[in-house]
Amino acid sequence: MKLIKSALAALALGVVALSPAAHAEDKGLVGVLMPTKTSQRWINDGDAVKSQLEAKGYTVDLQYAQDDIPNQLSQLENVITKGPKALIIASIDGTTMGDALQKAADAGVVVVAYDRLIKKTPNVDYYTTFDNFGVGVIQANSLVKGLKERFPDTKPWNVELFGGSPDDNNAFFFYNGAMSVLQPLIDDGSIKIVSGQTGMDKVGTLRWLAATAQARMDNLLSAYYSDGKRVDGVLSPYDGLSRGIIASLRGVGYGTADQPWPIVTGQDAETASVKAIIAGEQYSTVFKDTRDLAKSTVELVDTVLSGNKPANLDTTTYNNDVKVVPSILLTPVEVDKTNYEKIVVESGYIKPDELK
Ligand code: BGC
Repeated sequence: MKLIKSALAALALGVVALSPAAHAEDKGLVGVLMPTKTSQRWINDGDAVKSQLEAKGYTVDLQYAQDDIPNQLSQLENVITKGPKALIIASIDGTTMGDALQKAADAGVVVVAYDRLIKKTPNVDYYTTFDNFGVGVIQANSLVKGLKERFPDTKPWNVELFGGSPDDNNAFFFYNGAMSVLQPLIDDGSIKIVSGQTGMDKVGTLRWLAATAQARMDNLLSAYYSDGKRVDGVLSPYDGLSRGIIASLRGVGYGTADQPWPIVTGQDAETASVKAIIAGEQYSTVFKDTRDLAKSTVELVDTVLSGNKPANLDTTTYNNDVKVVPSILLTPVEVDKTNYEKIVVESGYIKPDELK
């Protein structure tokens, strides 16, 4: 009993001693919802957003939904009941959050769509992302550059196309950006899509799953290339898919002097893919510095919650089917064997040891 009493007294003292400092700092709760931990980029995003919010005095509730839509929706509903000042959401399916976000709007919560646009609701205040059409342009330009380098004498180049998840608005921007470069080359006969499969309805990869891309590549190889035709290039929108595609290609003997790797693109500069670039298996990736995206997002939230107006927003590019969502668009960068050290290692994004 004595013990309990003194423990309680100590606790009470502790509370008295701690609370003034804690209150002076505390700017309130921010809910941060990320799609999945299966991709390194979202772990980097979550860590960066959380630490930067905390440094500004916010309390952070960070959740990952393992790519499960109902799971993310219940995380959203749950965090709204905790009375957050703001929500930062990287959605799995950008079209299913309307009801929950109405509750958030009714409670005056500031809502930021993080990297992926939230659609079909007026209750999204801002969008922070990269130039997603530009990502696709970089991927396609890199593919063409690689084809010219590796296969200068064999036109038409045999190419297959992969798209991202059709419930992610970004996937269409990546695909359309890439096709803005590739379509003219398909039309003039420089590039041949041997399977004939084009369009997001045919080349999309639901939930961005590597295994799905690998299985589709297996099918393409056996249906269209078993007569000895060589795949020269694969447009892949994301490193995880690229690794699945490369595994499939390896399975039928690519990666030798007689059967060189096709040019395979990617996105996110994930460690495993930068290693694959160094090994010559993947040709390139697109680096989007998640630390910068986190910084812009945290600054935006802090500006708005401090009662100020954010400046320099893009107010034309991203219509979510209800309104144009004011956006911050950061710049993506191509990374290949020639510049990965400068771009991802020297900037501290990946440590040299992690690439060993
Ligand atoms: C992001 C990409 C990422 C993909 C898969 C997209 O919404 O913009 O960076 O590769 O999701 O996680």
